[in-house]
Amino acid sequence: MLHYGHVDIGKTKLLDCIRRTIVQEGEAGGITQQIGATYIPAENIRERTKELKADAKLDVPSLLVIDTQSFRRNLAGNFRTTTIESINLLRMRNTEFIVALNKVDRLYGWKTCRNAPIGKAMKQQSKDVQLEFDHRVTQIITQFKEQGLNTELYNKNKDRGETYSIVPTSAISGEGIPEMLLLLIQWAQKTMIEKLTYSSEIQCTVLEVKVIEGLGTTIDVVLVNGVLHEGDEIVGPIHTTIRSLLTPHPMKELRVKGQYIHYKEIKAAQGIKITAQNLEHAVAGTSLYVVGPDDDMEEIKESVMYDMRNVMSRIDKS
Ligand code: GDP
Repeated sequence: MLHYGHVDIGKTKLLDCIRRTIVQEGEAGGITQQIGATYIPAENIRERTKELKADAKLDVPSLLVIDTQSFRRNLAGNFRTTTIESINLLRMRNTEFIVALNKVDRLYGWKTCRNAPIGKAMKQQSKDVQLEFDHRVTQIITQFKEQGLNTELYNKNKDRGETYSIVPTSAISGEGIPEMLLLLIQWAQKTMIEKLTYSSEIQCTVLEVKVIEGLGTTIDVVLVNGVLHEGDEIVGPIHTTIRSLLTPHPMKELRVKGQYIHYKEIKAAQGIKITAQNLEHAVAGTSLYVVGPDDDMEEIKESVMYDMRNVMSRIDKS
């Protein structure tokens, strides 16, 4: 799950809200605030959505939320996406999405229903608030139409796939977060289950290159597919051997500085910190390739060059 949108619409706050509410409910379990990515296990989503009685059978093990804002900042200085740019990116890549219509608590006269499903929260609102809400939603659906996209409120959307769902949320008081999580899980299950089925092909992107006290230059990567092992020979603009594979501890232990969980091997999807020699020349936005015994180094180098050109041209444009 990537979250896109204009600056200040509340992407960071929404993610904070998902993390905090789950943690507050004593379900800190395995939630890991990773490196530009947050790992949310299915148990936590089940807990957070139980009031919806959707009886969601969770076939995906987790959601990995990637903070694209920090990713893009790393890639290209101050690059910020606007809503329209975000929509175009999603469309270009044929990516399905849902729209979180955030800051619903800003409606004049909104009655806070902390962390409640939005369906339940709406029923508590006065007629005026409900009318104003309907009016705003109609306006937004029209604006999407002008961009050539069909959208509909999530509970009226009978045509998922062709029509994108809008889910109202508040990142401050938590209304709508249950529906948002449920929609994301349903969407992931419907559209991605085959892609998520384990495949050995490595798909791994560098998010950030960072110097960490005691570890030297490290890279934070997101592993979308496949398995990485300690000792794997990796190639990007760099060529080195993985010394260690690390993730931070679950949320509650995050404050302990410098504490990481070490892995001999780690399976997708995960945000991972890698330590190795010669990482100074790694570049955010490029892919990492693992060299196998039968691989043609020249072919891999060509892929690396192709990636570099792509990243550079994106930076030039922004
Ligand atoms: P980002 O740039 O999209 O990541 O936006 P932020 O998460 O940093 O939020 C921008 C501002 O909007 C901050 O001052 C937040 O406190 C505020 N904000 C975010 N979500 C909500 C919300 O649901 N309701 C209200 N009232 N304020 C919000």
